[in-house]
Amino acid sequence: VRRILSGIQPTGVPHLGNFLGALRQWVQLQDQPAQTVVYSIVDLHALTAHPPVPPATLRDSIHNSARVLLALGINPKKSILFQQSQVPAHTQLQWVLTCVTSVGWLNRMTQWKTKAGSSPADAAPPAALKMGLFAYPVLQAADILIYRATHVPVGEDQHQHLELARDIAKVFNTTYKTNLFPMPQAVSTSAKRIMSLTDPTAKMSKSHANPKSRIDLTDSDSTIAKKVRGAVTDSDPTVTWDPDTRPGVANLLSLYAACRDLDPASLPEGELKGVVGMVNLKKKVAECVVDTVRPVRDEYLRLGGEVGYVKAVLEEGNARARAEADATWEMVMKAVGMK
Ligand code: ATP
Ligand code: MG
Repeated sequence: VRRILSGIQPTGVPHLGNFLGALRQWVQLQDQPAQTVVYSIVDLHALTAHPPVPPATLRDSIHNSARVLLALGINPKKSILFQQSQVPAHTQLQWVLTCVTSVGWLNRMTQWKTKAGSSPADAAPPAALKMGLFAYPVLQAADILIYRATHVPVGEDQHQHLELARDIAKVFNTTYKTNLFPMPQAVSTSAKRIMSLTDPTAKMSKSHANPKSRIDLTDSDSTIAKKVRGAVTDSDPTVTWDPDTRPGVANLLSLYAACRDLDPASLPEGELKGVVGMVNLKKKVAECVVDTVRPVRDEYLRLGGEVGYVKAVLEEGNARARAEADATWEMVMKAVGMK
């Protein structure tokens, strides 16, 4: 049977890139029969943010992430929705995996290399390079393997980490002569990577300092229109699909295409034929983004009056996740010889 696992960091509220690249898939995947579906708000991962997220903000972000996930259609009757830190087996397994993971593998992770300074523009100051950030992909592997997940719906930016999780599963199985961990495979969407509105060469991110770089799933219609109007494009008024030379325009077309389930390359001669000028293109894009975000935001606002319900969903999810994870942890302890 399929076992599905994915997670999102409570480093802010989920944005359109998260939705089109991963979360929309989460909703669809929960509707197939005979499977276990586990979705996590990965607050332990959020502790690697630099500077650290203030405690009150983290607390709010955990709750609001749960609200957004419920608003966009995660159904607690079909899926286990829970908070990572409330299931201790994640970190217990992480330690065991850390003991079979080569430092060299972690050194090759692009996310680490970027932050560790191979490209000076994105480099964090040396004091920001903590053990937690380095070991992040091992915790991510533990998140997946503790549910013995077979399918992991993530955006393209996480594919390298997922490959590492497979390598870690393999080395564990080999070291302890077991087949405890299945090889988890990625489940991808067509919206591979939504880029930042203010820098179309960087991906849209929750943790980016500039809120204008992203569209949050909780943004009002007028905020969405304003952010799209402010998106970086270029001085060419025509609408063409040239991701290499016109990344800003390509990102707007990708957004439009993902919201409408179309192929972005087809738009200039298809749905957007005859549209000239960036003002007009942005109007069209804002309209379809508003259509996509509105139902999620309206349900999110409604759930603002249901604080007790949201908390109860997480608490029940935590208990169910603990039962699943503890069962794997027992098997890990036996495989390793701790029991
Ligand atoms: P942070 O900046 O804190 O890392 P994030 O925006 O990258 O936040 P995550 O919580 O790290 O969001 O990732 C949640 C999911 O969304 C992952 O599956 C990730 O691959 C996907 N994702 C994140 N950003 C994008 C994007 N710009 N386009 C498509 N998918 C994305
Ligand atoms: Mg991320």
